[in-house]
Amino acid sequence: MTSTATLQTVLDELTARPGTGEKISVINPVTEEQIVEFTDCGAQAVDEAVARAKASFEAGVWSELPGRARAKIMWKIADLIDEHADEIAHLDSLNTGMPLMQATLGLPNCAEFFRYYAGWCTKISGNAYDVKTAGIATDTWVDMHTYTLKEPYGVVGLIFPWNGPIFNACAKLAPALAAGCSMVVKPAEETPLSAILLNRLIHEAGVPEGVVNLLTGYGHTAGAAITAHPDVEKVAFTGSTEIGKEIVRASAGNLKKVMLELGGKSPVLIYDDADLQKAIFMASMGIFVHSGQGCVCGSRVFVQRGVYDEVLEGISNMANFVKLGGPDEEGCMSGPLISQKQLTRVMGYIDEGKSEGAEVVTGGHRLDRKGYFVHPTVLTNVNRDMRLYQEEIFGPVVTVLPFDDDDEAVAMANDTTYGLAATAWTNDLSRAHRLGKRLQAGTVTINCQLVFDHAVPFGGYRQSGWGHEFGQEGIDAYLKTKSVWAQL
Ligand code: ADP
Repeated sequence: MTSTATLQTVLDELTARPGTGEKISVINPVTEEQIVEFTDCGAQAVDEAVARAKASFEAGVWSELPGRARAKIMWKIADLIDEHADEIAHLDSLNTGMPLMQATLGLPNCAEFFRYYAGWCTKISGNAYDVKTAGIATDTWVDMHTYTLKEPYGVVGLIFPWNGPIFNACAKLAPALAAGCSMVVKPAEETPLSAILLNRLIHEAGVPEGVVNLLTGYGHTAGAAITAHPDVEKVAFTGSTEIGKEIVRASAGNLKKVMLELGGKSPVLIYDDADLQKAIFMASMGIFVHSGQGCVCGSRVFVQRGVYDEVLEGISNMANFVKLGGPDEEGCMSGPLISQKQLTRVMGYIDEGKSEGAEVVTGGHRLDRKGYFVHPTVLTNVNRDMRLYQEEIFGPVVTVLPFDDDDEAVAMANDTTYGLAATAWTNDLSRAHRLGKRLQAGTVTINCQLVFDHAVPFGGYRQSGWGHEFGQEGIDAYLKTKSVWAQL
């Protein structure tokens, strides 16, 4: 199907979805115009979806399929994503404003989530323990055959953000499906389009009805109903730290397990012995790409004093070089912020910082055109009392400060409540690995940024999250462990 024809079917399906709540307007962030309006599904739809998921789980239509049968269907999902990659990329790029090239380049990784986790379907196993035990209050030793079983959680709730709609959906759906869970799935209200198509492909591939249940609605309605639902055993969430905390509170009712992938204020250390050209380029890409709307964006850059001026100038030049525009504008390298709300938020941080004495080296303003575009912004003369230095901005805003030695660099880097990612640019091998230990973040990258692989665990320290995605940890997150004891 052409992208235009697919768009029309997706919009028709979205508007036809039943709901009991408010109307939600999906806005094109490049034109500020409405793409479509749909009805919030409301809490009743969540109840019904959870009931369907529970029934499908208890019937074992997915959870009790042999691993190889689940794997085969997951491979089919991957193939269908490849087949429809163009259409999905167009939907995400229309919905988020990201360059079409960026959306297109991300699609193979999305399909690969299903292939990678398809491999795990046949490798879910516990351990055996050859134990001789006296029990707790006896002195008679008996032989035991003891083993663990890895079992799917049951009904899980998957809640995604808007910044990478299809990527985030695949990152959660693939391991949850591989584990044998049934699920309710909620994309962000700003970006529901690609989820509609993915949902269709998942069912076309052969996932039985009732296993994957898409819900379209607001976070405070549909999302909150998922996280409070007594029959949802686990919630996996990607989004802001603030909402992550709300989810933890809401999950207390049935003590549901929670996996959180939250915000960051990731430091980037650039030493005077680094390949400066590469460091400047990647540190710039690491904050300006996707207009800074990525959880691992390096929003605090620290530079060794001897090369500080050179790096500051280099990053500022890159900020001016990045061409902003809509997906179909010639040469555009980065898109707008997602919404008026985000624009107001990002500009609020910049304006407040300016009034407190932050120096704007470049940027600091929105573009004089339609769309929620903020000029890539480089700030210096900032300090730890400023909100813009402490809080996640989620925009194309970077602070650049000098440091003198390792201890100072590490202290500044770790001086944050977050701990998602950290980067060191240095050609001193020993220092690089020392920093690998000392930097308090779930992911430390050395002489590289924006790296990812399905096999490598990803999770946040401190207030950047709970648990891990990707790799074996990624499927373990959807499995619980049971110990079985048999007296011989
Ligand atoms: P961002 O700050 O990136 O917009 P949010 O944390 O606000 O991210 O939202 C990420 C996802 O969480 C979205 O799908 C949103 O609808 C959902 N969400 C927002 N509030 C809640 C809530 N109270 N309970 C559950 N989900 C929520």
